[in-house]
Amino acid sequence: MRFARRLLIALSFTFLLAVVAPRYSGPHVHAQQTATPTGPAQIAPAQPDRQPSQPQAYTLPPDKLAKAIAINRIRNILDIVGPLWGLVVIWLLLASRFAAGLAAWAGRVARLRWVQGLVFFAVLLVILFLANLPLDVYWHHVSRQFGISVQHWPSWFGDQAKALGLSLAIGAPVLLLFNWIVRRWPRRYWFGAWVATLPLLVLSIFVSPLLEPIFNKFEPLSKNNAGLVTELEKVAVRTGTNIPPERMFLMNASAKTNGLNAYVSGMGATRRIVVWDTTAGRIPNDEILFIFGHESGHYVLNHIVKGLIVTAIFLFFIYWACAGFSAWLVRRFGQRWRIEGQEGMAPLATRSGFVVLVLAVSIAGFILTPASNTFSRYLEHEADVYGQEAIHGIVPDPQKTAVSSFNHLGEAWLEDPSPNPFIEFWDYNHPSVKNRANFAAQYDPWSNGRQPLFFKK
Ligand SMILES: [Zn+2]
Repeated sequence: MRFARRLLIALSFTFLLAVVAPRYSGPHVHAQQTATPTGPAQIAPAQPDRQPSQPQAYTLPPDKLAKAIAINRIRNILDIVGPLWGLVVIWLLLASRFAAGLAAWAGRVARLRWVQGLVFFAVLLVILFLANLPLDVYWHHVSRQFGISVQHWPSWFGDQAKALGLSLAIGAPVLLLFNWIVRRWPRRYWFGAWVATLPLLVLSIFVSPLLEPIFNKFEPLSKNNAGLVTELEKVAVRTGTNIPPERMFLMNASAKTNGLNAYVSGMGATRRIVVWDTTAGRIPNDEILFIFGHESGHYVLNHIVKGLIVTAIFLFFIYWACAGFSAWLVRRFGQRWRIEGQEGMAPLATRSGFVVLVLAVSIAGFILTPASNTFSRYLEHEADVYGQEAIHGIVPDPQKTAVSSFNHLGEAWLEDPSPNPFIEFWDYNHPSVKNRANFAAQYDPWSNGRQPLFFKK
């Protein structure tokens, strides 16, 4: 599921790559089916974990602790190596002149220019997919070994094939569009690309719930969990999110994973709440209410809109900088990479030249990973505060409920109880479970005379 989203984002919108990162609509914890890890470190206010004397709110039994340390070592390496490998592959495609050869070949297999373009970008996407496949296979192997994933290999490869199909159906036309923009406005194309990116970002959020059933089965939550629906409704009323029972779904996640999750996705008419069947019935309903409160926070606090605005501002400068960097790359390596202008086209406007732009944007995405993750962590922390306040008065002890839910989430995903601060800073799009639990344990504005942040009396 999440990996489908990742593929969609990373492949289809190669252009936006990691910049699109803030995954508010995505899983609450990072579902680790992919080599994409999780939540990070610094949280704005209280950082109780900085005081060594304080007991930790997130703990694991010894056997799970050993497993968590082992799997996180692998996860951390993959998370740095994976993106770097992606950059190396694109560089190799250019340096080996494969991109130039592929462009020449695509020019011969079809007569119509746009068909040639589709063929070129489809082959490119398949190559990038195949290059990444060994890492994905290895990570799936590890997830199975550690009991996080229970998905059998045929089903897993089936999902990969579907994700590839989606990325071809969506990604190839999108890349063709951007390529056309570069040809049409050879000097100011970065601005045109920026304008085109904005509606695509909105569309991708709107459409994602419609694509999810390709990978997983959904049923109305009320079908087998009527009691939970009634309780969720209480939180929905208190938060004013107005998500009616018809928009609450149960996802059949247990066929693939032991992980816990609940999330809100979509926008406007497609907005919905999804609870994994590994979660409903396995952890107390109160804790699901907390997770729902957290997810509601993303909506009530307009995180999607804020994320879109911040992304748009960043992208403006990123595209501008990448245009300059790409022009330099072509001047420096163009001849060696056989990237030359033709028929009056600037080198970057050719198909192989466009790969230089993909490389530049990918490098920018990699460098900006910590920036986008820091922003994402800030929003996630805000949602944690909101979630705890949202269930106040509905569950007996919001602090206890939140801490317990973080422990359940952390144990299910084998979250590292003492993550390396640099890894957290670079890689985590959520605060670490350790920091989230520690914050929740001491967050109690009601008893010490402070005002709640979002639900003022
Ligand atoms: Zn969240």
